[in-house]
Order: sequence, then structure tokens, then C-alpha cells
Amino acid sequence: MTLKELNIGEKAVITKVKGRGAFRKRMVEMGFIVGQVIESVKKAPFQDPVEYRLMDYEVSLRNTEADLIEIVSESEIKKKYPSKFNGTIDTKVLKKSARKKEKIINIALVGNPNSGKTTLFNFASGSKERVGNYGGVTVEAKEARFKVGDYVFNIVDLPGTYSITAYSPEELFVRDHIINAMPDVVVNVIDSSNLERNLYLTTQLIDMDIKVVVALNMYDELSKKGDTLDYKHIGDMLGIPFIPTVSSKGKGVKDLFEKIIDVYEDRDSTVRHIHINYGISLENSIYEIQEEIYKYCNKGLTDRYSSRFLAIKLLEKDKEVRELIKSDCENKEKILKLVANKVSMVEKGYKEDSETLITDAKYGFIEGALRETYKQAERKKVSKSRMIDKVITHKYLGIPIFLFFIWLTFFVTFNLGDYPMGWIEAGVGVLGNFLSSILPSGILRDLLVDGVIGGVGGVLVFLPNIVLLYMFISLMEDTGYMARAVFIMDKAMHKIGLHGKSFIPLLMGFGCNVPAIMSSRIIESKRDRMITILINPFMSCSARLTVYVLLISAFFVEYRSLILFSLYLFGVLLAIITAFILRKTFFKTKDIPFVMELPPYRIPTLKTILRHMWFRAQIYLKKVGGIILVASVIIWVLGYFPRNNDIIVHYDQQIDSVKSYYSSIPINERSNNWDEKLRSELKHLNTHKNHELQEKSLIGYIGRFIHPVMAPLGFDWKMSISLLTGVTAKEIVVGTLGVLYEAEGSGEDEINTSLISRIQEQTYIKGPKKGEKVFTPVVAISFMLFILIYFPCIGVFAAIKKESGGWRWPIFEAVYSTTLAWVMAFLAFNIGSLL
Ligand code: GDP
Ligand code: MG
Repeated sequence: MTLKELNIGEKAVITKVKGRGAFRKRMVEMGFIVGQVIESVKKAPFQDPVEYRLMDYEVSLRNTEADLIEIVSESEIKKKYPSKFNGTIDTKVLKKSARKKEKIINIALVGNPNSGKTTLFNFASGSKERVGNYGGVTVEAKEARFKVGDYVFNIVDLPGTYSITAYSPEELFVRDHIINAMPDVVVNVIDSSNLERNLYLTTQLIDMDIKVVVALNMYDELSKKGDTLDYKHIGDMLGIPFIPTVSSKGKGVKDLFEKIIDVYEDRDSTVRHIHINYGISLENSIYEIQEEIYKYCNKGLTDRYSSRFLAIKLLEKDKEVRELIKSDCENKEKILKLVANKVSMVEKGYKEDSETLITDAKYGFIEGALRETYKQAERKKVSKSRMIDKVITHKYLGIPIFLFFIWLTFFVTFNLGDYPMGWIEAGVGVLGNFLSSILPSGILRDLLVDGVIGGVGGVLVFLPNIVLLYMFISLMEDTGYMARAVFIMDKAMHKIGLHGKSFIPLLMGFGCNVPAIMSSRIIESKRDRMITILINPFMSCSARLTVYVLLISAFFVEYRSLILFSLYLFGVLLAIITAFILRKTFFKTKDIPFVMELPPYRIPTLKTILRHMWFRAQIYLKKVGGIILVASVIIWVLGYFPRNNDIIVHYDQQIDSVKSYYSSIPINERSNNWDEKLRSELKHLNTHKNHELQEKSLIGYIGRFIHPVMAPLGFDWKMSISLLTGVTAKEIVVGTLGVLYEAEGSGEDEINTSLISRIQEQTYIKGPKKGEKVFTPVVAISFMLFILIYFPCIGVFAAIKKESGGWRWPIFEAVYSTTLAWVMAFLAFNIGSLL
């Protein structure tokens, strides 16, 4: 009987805790351990929840939970031996009969038709069920009971199925049995001579998060073909013990049952719940649906079903699970609507049924698991995918090919991006001039031209680069190349103590670290996940690209692809070193193996690629129109106020006197370059005026305050300020520079020049470096290094906090990276200056 049926005031002993792993774990933490004495204390007004006494303290459980706990109770024993006991029963007696019951293990045989389930069933139980070598012989479940050592096995032979989606009556039958009868251990019988097809069912069992042991049946056939399978390794990767058997001869059956006992008693170290990775769009959908299911669903639902399983099934449009949601969730409409949205999103994106996408991912998982463990004697036919794989994941060619693709990405991003970048730049210039000409001079014109256009325009020009970068990332992802990159990089990643799987988040980091950090969820091992998250900010994101493009275009036109590539590579190098340090210090736990999926190659649709690009463009434009606009205005205000009238008057007088001096020269006495001379003197005065105003402004004070720390790196105070503002988002660095360097040349009849040329022309107006250029190639390198390494933006900080569940790691990251940035920039500047 179950705990739910226990009468008030009665004692019992727990014999089994059913339900999924997460539920059992929670129960164990609360003290519901097999062999424990428990007493029912009182019921809540509506009979639910019920309060129990357990080890001298009280806990309450809902009926749905209590129903998953099996017990032996006093009344049960009394009923069995009516004459033997009267009055209360000694707990010793209770415990003794509980121990007997604990040793009953319920198992179910699940597998494809003809995998040898019935043969195994017969051999183990000594019964004589009919076996046949065609599918569908077993139409309903047969049960048998037998002893192995101290244990009694209740074994059920279920109908053969290829899958447990609820399409056929057999499939439904198997699924219902697993979920309702809750066998303690499911034995997945596999035809070893046909691994790929048979493992498909295994992937579904994995999604269900139940205890599984695989019987690698017909192992004789596999050996006969001359194939080999590293079953220990594949078992470790899948978190399921694999035991070879030849059930027609009874070989391996004893080992199988011993393993089942180990798994039942929770003492097998192989067992763990893994997630099959369905790719980023599906994984994100699964995650969102799971969150929604957890919100208002009857808790009993997630005790019996894994919420991940439910989410996957919903995405597969499974009718039964939909019904389940309808009956058990208050927020059913919201869940179903979310599912419909997600389904149509992925289907439109990939032009494929969601079911097919999930199936493909499962086969990709199997392919990946077998690639590392299964050696076939001779290949019968080589599929196109495999042929491409042979080249792309080749031992020696793999990495060069991969590096070539990455280099190509940067090359195209830069060269193709140049054209639209020029157009935007020109457009921004025209707009600035236009506004200058129609607005009366004064605060409004200064705000619009210098603050808004200077800041926002400077950032806007990088839109094409960002969009192109994302085009390449999504191309690699959608073709399936990204998954191969994982394979290629696996060995290298192991060298730094990570798994190939960490590679995807890292590669995505080149786009934006925030989604990349979130995608680290696909990594199972906590250690690998944390290291991957913490080194991710060293993957130079596309926001930082804006700064590189600006400075490289200004100072390194000839070597731009090379310099850019080196910067990215340097970031990667720092990531590797950091990973190494983290592994030796904070994260020393053992490595666990897992599967790298190999999904089929796909030709991506133009639509998905364009959608990805548009999506990124939107995010970027929103940033430009939002936070960057606001930041630009704030920086402008800080640089504009307080208006120091003395300075204005002082310079305006000089300007007037210069003007009147020049116009006083009679026309016939004016030299040829009279015009030019006047203009340059005015420019000189204007520059000094603006510079002095800025220095005495609020931002000037802030800049000078932090400047001493930054000066050893070769930065002027404006650059220091831009680093400070860049903490909100790295594109703001460029926006800030755009606003602050506007000063120079905004004399009345100056043409609005591009930020690149403004940066090239910046010179120190006073101080020890007077007359020197602010930016030299060495300063540019030092600055770019600082940008590459220092404090990730606020978004990344928040993402690390969310994924690591605390303040500790984001704070560590901020301090570590900023210190490292300072040191690297210092070395670069000082060594560079010597050369
Ligand atoms: P079920 O459909 O999964 O119940 O499969 P059956 O138990 O009916 O077995 C199908 C066929 O495979 C029968 O002819 C069995 O004799 C044969 N068979 C079962 N196990 C093995 C094995 O380990 N090795 C070999 N070579 N044949 C087996
Ligand atoms: Mg059978």
C-alpha cells in the first residue's frame, strides 16, 4: 500500500520511494528514506495535505506525493496474520516485514520488436512464452515473478515498439505502463546488430528521466560481424549501464540482473540523468515551456513526469501530453499558446516539422555517441553526410579548415561591411551638416549635432559589420557545421580541461556573450559549465568589434584582417589560460564523458538566415536608439555643463578680434592664403575653447579623477571616460569618443568629419605631451587590448549572476578581467613605446 492510504495515528515503515529522480531526491532530503518509521498525525480540513511524523519531526505531504511512497503498515500486518497480533505492533516486526518488501524489484522490458525481450523474459523467469522472429508477437504484457539471491523480481514483458510517441496502441501501452505502474527499473533490450535504430527508443527513455539499464542483446551477432562497441564508454556518456547479453543462450543475463539490483539500490556510479541537446532554438523553447509548466501546474504532475519530457512532447505535438496539461495546469491556455508559438517559430525557421527536428536531433545524438564508441568492420554504404564529415572532421585537415572558415568570416565581415558602412557614415555626415545649417547656433544645435548625431551616428555605422558576423554564425549553426566544430575541437578542448561541447557557447560569444552564457546550459557537468561561463567574456563580442573597426580603420588599414584576427586569437588564448587556472583552483572535480551530437547537414534557408540577421539588426538598433542614445546625451550634458562664461567670453573676444583684424586688412593687401590663415586661426581658437570648456565641465572632473590610473596605459582622459561608460555596453565606448572628440573642429564653418579622421587628428593641446598625437598605433593597440579584456558589460554581469546563482562569480569576473586588462594594456603600451 502507499502512504496515502495510511490511517491517522497509525505507524508504518517506508519500503520504496517512487517517482522521478528529482522527486526522490527531494523526498530523501526530507527524510523519507527506505526503512524509516513514519506515523500519520493529522489531516488538513480538506484531507490534503496530511501531516506525518518522521524521525521526531513533522512534515506535511500532499496526497499526490504520499501516493508515490510505498509502505508496510500495522493494519496491513494485522490483516495478514489476524491471530498473531493484537494491540500495537512492535516496530521491530514492522521493520522486518518492510525489509522483505523492500527486496521486491519491479522491472519492465522495453525494446524494439525482435530485440529478444521475450527470450530474455523466458530465460530469466523460466517460463515458456512464445518467441517469434517477427514483430508483434507480444501483444500485451506478460508478467512473471522470480528470485535472484535475496531479491524478488516482478518482471513485465511489454510489447515491442520502435518509439514511445503515442501513435500506436503498443506505444501507448508501453508509455502508460512506464508512467503509471512506475517500474523501479526499465530494462531497455537492444538488438546490438542494429544499434542506430534501437538506440532511438533509448533517447526517449532518457528524456523521461527514469532508471534504465540497457541489455545489449544479440551481442553475439555484433561480434560475428567483427564490429566492436565500447559499451562501458557509451554507458558513461548516456548515464545508463550497458550490459552485453545473448539471451538465447543465457549469456550475460546474470550480470544484467546484478546490475539491475545495483541500479535499484542507487549504488551504480554510471547512472545519471543527461539531456539530449536539441539545438539552441529548441532548447530555449523547452526551457521557456518548462518554466511555464512549473508555475501553476498541479505539483503531482512534475513528480511523475519530468517537466523537460513534457516540454519536449508538447513541442512534438503529442496529444496525450496536451490533455495532461489541460487537466492539470491552471495556466493551460498560456502553456499551449506558448507551445504553439514556439512550434511555429521553429517550423518556419527550419522549414521542417517540429517532430522531425526533434527526431533528427535524437539521431544526431546517437550518431555522435556511436562515432566515439562503435567500430564497424567494414562500411557497407557511406552516406553523404558521412562523406562530408570525413573531410571536415579529418584528423589533420579539420582544424585548418575550421580556422579558414573563421578567418573568412572576419575577412568578409570587414570587406563587405565597408560599403554599407561608408553609406551610413556619409548619411550621418549629411544629416549633421544639414542640422547645423538650419538650426540657430545654441544649446539645441549643440545637443543634436554633437550629442545625438555624434554619439549615435558613431555607433550606427557598425551595423553592417554586426549583421554580417551574425550571418556567418547562423550559417555555421544551421548547416550543422557548428556541431562538427565541436567534434574537431574536442581534443583541443580536453587539453584545457573542457569538453568539445563548451565550444558552442564560446563560439557564440563572438556574437554576444549574453546569449552565449545562457546557452552554456547545454553543458551537463557543473564544472565545465562554470568554466565555460567564466571564460566566455574573453570571446570578443561584436560590440567590441565597433571599437576595433574604428581604431583599425584609423591606424592599421593595411593589416586590418590580421590585426583583428590576432585580437580575437589573443582573447581565446587568455580564455584558455583562465580555464586552466580555474580548473587547477576552484573547479577540481572529475571529468564526465558525454555525447557530441552529429545532426544531419542541412542547407539553410535564405529566410532563416535573413531572419537571424534582421533579429540581430533589431536588437542593435534598439540598443542604439535606447541605451546608447541616452548615454550619449548624458555624456554630452556632462561635457557641456557647467557653462563657464569666463572661458566663452575670453575666447569669443579673441575670435572677434581675429576676425576684425583680418577684415581690417584692405582687400588689395591680403595675401593669397588670407582665407586659409583666418580659418586655421579660428579653428585653433575654437579647439582651445571647446577643450577648455570640456576640461572644466563635469566630465572633465570625472575624467581627471580616474585618469591617473589609466595614464600609465597611454590613454588620455577622454579615453578613460569612454572605458567607464563602456561598462553599460561596449558600443558606448565609440559613442562616447564620438561625443568627446566632437570638440575639435566644430568651428562655425567646419565640415563634419568622420570619427575616424577626428581620431587620427587628435593632438594634445597642453600638458607634457603638448603637440603630440593622442592616438598612435601603440596607444590604439593598448586601448583595444583593454577593451578586449576588461569588465564585461552589465548584461554579461547579470547573465553570470543568473547562471551561477549568486554574486560571487560575477564579482570575481569583473575584478579579474579588469585587473588583467590593465596589466596587458600596460605591457603593450610600454613595450610598444620602446620599439
Ligand atoms: P521480442 O520481439 O523482443 O520479444 O523478441 P523475441 O524474444 O521474440 O526474439 C526474436 C528472435 O531473436 C528469436 O528468434 C530469438 O531466438 C532470437 N534471439 C533472442 N535473443 C538473441 C540473442 O541474444 N542472440 C541471437 N543470435 N538471437 C537471439
Ligand atoms: Mg516478444
